Amino acid sequence: MSEAAPYFLEVRDAIVEMGGENINLCMQCGTCAGTCPWGRLEEKSHFNIRKMIYQGRMGIDGYETDDILYACTTCGHCVTRCPRGVKITDVVRAMRSVIGETGGIPKNLKAAVGSINSQGNPWSQPREKRDAWAKDLDVPKFTPDTEYLLFVCCTSAFDGRSQKIARSIAEILKKANVSFGIIGNEEQCCGESIRKIGAESEFSMLAEANIKLFKDNGVKKIITTSPHCLSAFKNDYPEFGGEFEVFHYTELLESLVKEGKLSFGNTEAKKVIYHEPCYLGRHSKIFDAPRDLLAQVSGLETIEFDKSKNDSLCCGGGGSRIWMETEPGQRFSDFKVDEAAQKEANVLVTACPYCVVMMEDSVKNLNKDEVLVVKDISEILKEAL
Ligand code: SF4
Repeated sequence: MSEAAPYFLEVRDAIVEMGGENINLCMQCGTCAGTCPWGRLEEKSHFNIRKMIYQGRMGIDGYETDDILYACTTCGHCVTRCPRGVKITDVVRAMRSVIGETGGIPKNLKAAVGSINSQGNPWSQPREKRDAWAKDLDVPKFTPDTEYLLFVCCTSAFDGRSQKIARSIAEILKKANVSFGIIGNEEQCCGESIRKIGAESEFSMLAEANIKLFKDNGVKKIITTSPHCLSAFKNDYPEFGGEFEVFHYTELLESLVKEGKLSFGNTEAKKVIYHEPCYLGRHSKIFDAPRDLLAQVSGLETIEFDKSKNDSLCCGGGGSRIWMETEPGQRFSDFKVDEAAQKEANVLVTACPYCVVMMEDSVKNLNKDEVLVVKDISEILKEAL
């Protein structure tokens, strides 16, 4: 590879400083580009992860940011294949942070960042309504004697559809007599997506505020409703002094079943197909818990997508893409919904609020709503309590 000019070396150094040090390991083999879901589109996109890494390594500052730098969903499929062990999603995040510092964040994403700054959530909802999802459920408040903090993702706290996920999880935890509680309106977004946007200083303020809140309340163990919060608390918060035991709700429910403290009966669902959320599967290596839980429900037939576990196709909503427009024909969730319908599943089930949003959009846009519904696993388990 030819050598970069001094100015460009400064840019490369900034990427390394922002956590993208693996960029220097890249040998430009192209395996990542061959794995990337953007490569499966009939009309090829401008996005090529190998080229983007080359540009970052050379320090070239000419990215068309919306189409190129912000195309990556951080699904992590490339990371599982890279022969040099490049943590490509960290490199992408670091490149976005460098762009973010110069004001290059796309407009839609600036709105999400602005909402987090003003309201503590990316959905422009008033922060004093954060615990509205729990209305009439008698969800306990977290006290120093409570074992687990239930941390509800912003999407499930504010979005009417997604609130059903938070409510289902709370009801199952209550049924299993788990010692849990919520802090409520003082909580703020976990910040996972804002960090992937490249808003590094906003993320650090958010993480520090949440960590202080958790410590002040005596939190030691956290249950998350979203794999994105799980990833932030497990992988990002320790950098800021936040060391907690963190569990995705499926992990905890699976252990309760194994201990004989929780069991399930029937559900209305018949044939379900499980979509692997990238941040639960590839990023967190939680592959069995969701499947083991579905196996507990009587009369349910669970089938798999042709590509699952480490090879699963992303829904397209990670890495901040949930707030960006994606053209028809380029929506990964459309491919999943098409395959689910072809396999005659009547429920597409997943375990992530972002995946639910993306898949429901595709079901609607593809006019599949008469044959396929989208549910979070928690909703099926709640039906089967
Ligand atoms: Fe570089 Fe790894 Fe991609 Fe190959 S797979 S081009 S080594 S990042």
